[in-house]
Amino acid sequence: MDETIPYDMRITHAPDARGHFGAYGGRFAAETLMAPLQALEEAFFAAWEDPEFQAERLALLRHYVGRATPLYHADRLSRENGGAQIWLKREDLTHTGAHKINNTIGQGLLARRMGKKRVIAETGAGQHGVATATVAAKFGMQCDVYMGREDVERQKPNVLRMRLLGANVIAVDSGTATLKDALNEALRDWVATCEDTFYIIGTVAGPHPYPLMVRQFHAVIGQEARAQMLKQAGCLPDVAIACVGGGSNAMGLLHPFRDDDVRLIAVEAAGHGLDSGAHAASLARGRAGILHGNLTYLLEDEDGQIQGTHSISAGLDYPGVGPELAAMLDRGELELDAATDEEALEAFQRLTACEGIIPALESSHALAAGMRIAAGLRSDQHVLINLSGRGDKDMNTVFKTLGWLE
Ligand SMILES: *Cc1c(COP(=O)(O)O)cnc(C)c1O
Repeated sequence: MDETIPYDMRITHAPDARGHFGAYGGRFAAETLMAPLQALEEAFFAAWEDPEFQAERLALLRHYVGRATPLYHADRLSRENGGAQIWLKREDLTHTGAHKINNTIGQGLLARRMGKKRVIAETGAGQHGVATATVAAKFGMQCDVYMGREDVERQKPNVLRMRLLGANVIAVDSGTATLKDALNEALRDWVATCEDTFYIIGTVAGPHPYPLMVRQFHAVIGQEARAQMLKQAGCLPDVAIACVGGGSNAMGLLHPFRDDDVRLIAVEAAGHGLDSGAHAASLARGRAGILHGNLTYLLEDEDGQIQGTHSISAGLDYPGVGPELAAMLDRGELELDAATDEEALEAFQRLTACEGIIPALESSHALAAGMRIAAGLRSDQHVLINLSGRGDKDMNTVFKTLGWLE
């Protein structure tokens, strides 16, 4: 990695001993999982403090993932957009094309260190499944990925990619046969198999210590961006912005700026509009409840049933949000914004035409909000946007939505 980047291994803004970030988080899981979660917590802290583990992790991030990723000054976009300078953190240039690999490399290494021979994961759009199958292939581990049958049908290319990587994709038929049902099945599997199996969770959610652990594995994003801003722009950004599905790319980018004078902004998927009922904005429109082993903001109906979510980007289609983001919002540490399907698609086309960079539809939400915010600032101000992934996977969705495939 770039030797000038000061990767910081200290853990700041930690949750309490039971994994609470303010009122959120915790460990809501079956009794049989309490001991394995405790063992995981101990293994994580021991590994985190072990220079050998960190050296191996950083070496893989450098030579396998391709870090440090560039920080790119989108000068033409900035000019055409008007207002502040727009800087893109290029997670789209990582191996497998999105930030998710930072986390699966970390958890994969931890699984190996704990002597586990098998990893499991759940996936909605299939992106986390692919990132998990990738490291399972690299580390020679058996890999089973739970996926709602609806999603298996909708996300064929990712299903085939996982098979190619040697993973076994298990279609889940219960409930609505989507992500929330796959979550439950993965937890059920782990209850029965935790002796030899490691559960790789794909975002800053799940029972303690997952939200903390995943944040730490992604913090390289913001640590690099912070050092790169100082070097390339000569100052910190005025604003840092990321899209939020579960919140892992957002925590990765924003966490290292928390003690700075930088506005931190999370952008949710407003789908057809926040008042349409068809969105994935858990922070803006959710209420506190328990999902995936932690207490957080959720989209649920009057009866406490998890609601169906909608977004043009499958990766933002998570019905909850990481508990730490909920706590940051409550404390006023985080500003909330949203972008609709239409705004995201517009930002997608804008960046592509203006800079020759095709972003993921997820990242396009951060871009849409970022361009709007930049337009209201001065030209000597700086807006940092996390470009969490590349858009190759979204071609079909985009062409269909634009009506180019008729
Ligand atoms: C999965 C994904 C996201 C959303 O997940 P977070 O945990 O909120 O980061 C965002 N962007 C891309 C490219 C993704 O693949």
